[in-house]
Amino acid sequence: MQFIDGKTMLNQALKNGYGVGAFSAHNAETILAILEAAEEKQSPVMIQIGQKVIQTLGLKPMKDMIDSFAGNFSVPICIHLDHSRKYEQTMEAIQLGFQSVMFDGSALSFEENTTITKQVVEAARALGIGSEGEIGKIGGTEDDITVEEKDASITPTQEAVDFVTATDVDYLAVSIGTAHGIYQQTPNLRFDRLEEIANAIQRPIVLHGGSDVPDEQVRRAISLGISKINVDTELRQAFTQGLQTYMQNQPEDFVLANSLGAGREQMKEKVKEKIDVFGSAGRASDYIIKEKVVTL
Ligand SMILES: [Zn+2]
Repeated sequence: MQFIDGKTMLNQALKNGYGVGAFSAHNAETILAILEAAEEKQSPVMIQIGQKVIQTLGLKPMKDMIDSFAGNFSVPICIHLDHSRKYEQTMEAIQLGFQSVMFDGSALSFEENTTITKQVVEAARALGIGSEGEIGKIGGTEDDITVEEKDASITPTQEAVDFVTATDVDYLAVSIGTAHGIYQQTPNLRFDRLEEIANAIQRPIVLHGGSDVPDEQVRRAISLGISKINVDTELRQAFTQGLQTYMQNQPEDFVLANSLGAGREQMKEKVKEKIDVFGSAGRASDYIIKEKVVTL
């Protein structure tokens, strides 16, 4: 196992023109689905812990579980805290040894968002942990928080520049036309704005709401500077469908390892598909840290 901080992982992806999937985990089976898919594809991977599972299972148990499974895998792994809206929670994740944290102050004023994000960046950086901030409002529902379509807004380039200058955050989530959850109609990403922001801030950009964005749009976004793609909804759908199909076919089988295993298998296939779209397959070897030869 090899844990890699988010900044190193995403800068490597940006330099080499691929994207790293940040896949959300919700229990033991989904952690394993993500890790097995990454291992089979020899891809670097980010595992995200979001607010919903923190409420139900807890931050530390999820981190401990990933740590304990990770020992059986060889690919580079980065454990990421997704959409933290509390400074204290971000600090807790840093204390627990996450390799990446996101403080999401997009619901706050620009000044408040900047102030808190800057504090998070400073603490994370001192410990070699990557940091993500967000500017602009991404539509849809995540973790029970809904941003109505009328309130969703495309990130203005100048705001992104001002935010990065003020906070020096390692990677930035922007709003360029995606939404969390299920799309009512096919999204059309604002590539013009993405390109403008990428050129202006010169660091990895994060695409939230990556589920169900057409593959060719995702590939183009990666070519323009997206380095981290968050995927949650599509994975939960795959897991649930696998589970449902199994239970329909074997309604009397109450061995949870079997039914949950069917969900895990279907989700793993979806993660592998995404890794292929993002271009990160076979890239695990980019992160082999050469052993230093010390001569006395
Ligand atoms: Zn998100």
